[in-house]
Amino acid sequence: DAKASGRGAVKFFVEDMALAVRRRRQLGVALRDALANAELSLAYQPIVALKDGRATAVEALLRWTHPGFGVVSPAEFIPIAEETGVIVEIGAYALDRACRDALNWPAHVRIAVNLSAAQFDRGDLEATVREALARTGLPAERLELEITESILVGNHAEVMTKLNRLHALGVHIALDDFGTGYSSLSYLNDFTFDKVKVDQSFVRDVTLPRNSKAVSIIRAVNAIGADLNMTVVAEGVETAEQLQALRALGVSGAQGYYFSQPAPADEIGLILLKEMADSLVDPMARRARR
Ligand code: C2E
Ligand code: MG
Ligand code: MG
Ligand code: MG
Repeated sequence: DAKASGRGAVKFFVEDMALAVRRRRQLGVALRDALANAELSLAYQPIVALKDGRATAVEALLRWTHPGFGVVSPAEFIPIAEETGVIVEIGAYALDRACRDALNWPAHVRIAVNLSAAQFDRGDLEATVREALARTGLPAERLELEITESILVGNHAEVMTKLNRLHALGVHIALDDFGTGYSSLSYLNDFTFDKVKVDQSFVRDVTLPRNSKAVSIIRAVNAIGADLNMTVVAEGVETAEQLQALRALGVSGAQGYYFSQPAPADEIGLILLKEMADSLVDPMARRARR
């Protein structure tokens, strides 16, 4: 009867919750040893300039493969790592690894590394960044740090001071997932970002047949970017139609599966080298045709 099936549904719900809590706790414990057990790695995804389709930067994305749990998505384990605080250590690893890998790539390509709020709150982020640069020898101008609006919500004045100090090192600062947090525009007023990454939720809607609000929003972000001297990049570009719409809007950069899936360092290195070779060959090919 209805009552019994209602009780059944509640029972399943409670069991699901208990399972989710258990998994979260187990992942939290497993994460403590993930670094030492070499279960973490980085995948890289190019960010391309729409004017010529060539990479201007590459974003480092953490990957975790656990012997028991298998591949765990960053969407699941990053929040857990933030909660337990282990993100400080993992974040330092990602920074170091990314700087090292970037040294093997053409010098015009920046390396973008994501930062969590916990890295601002706990530990000395400026020292961590300075040390990673000194240890690896990567020039500061080649490093880009991606932060989300969630970082800016907490202790505002303190975060601003820390951001300015990072900026003073010469690294670039990008605002990630733009448009998904709150009071985004006030953050643009408080800090001079080098780049704004428009969240993929807007990119998804940019090809809607008529009156797409996403088009208006991206056009507005683009205008602000031009005025404030910020590069505007669209995230999560998956189709030729989306790319075409973004081009028409005058967006300067894009990232997404349409260009490349996140891939291991050596694969990305080959792609970047091939681009370099092509750009050397292109003018010669033109000359030969004349
Ligand atoms: P994010 O920084 O916004 O990174 C972009 C995410 O979109 C990545 O997910 C990427 O794989 C995915 N993506 C790229 N192109 C497309 C596309 O065309 N379509 C769709 N649907 N998705 C696309 P990923 O690798 O699962 O990472 C998720 C989030 O985890 C990142 O979002 C970032 O917030 C966080 N994260 C990843 N690595 C790190 C890290 O080293 N440190 C910190 N603090 N956070 C990280
Ligand atoms: Mg990012
Ligand atoms: Mg993003
Ligand atoms: Mg995102």
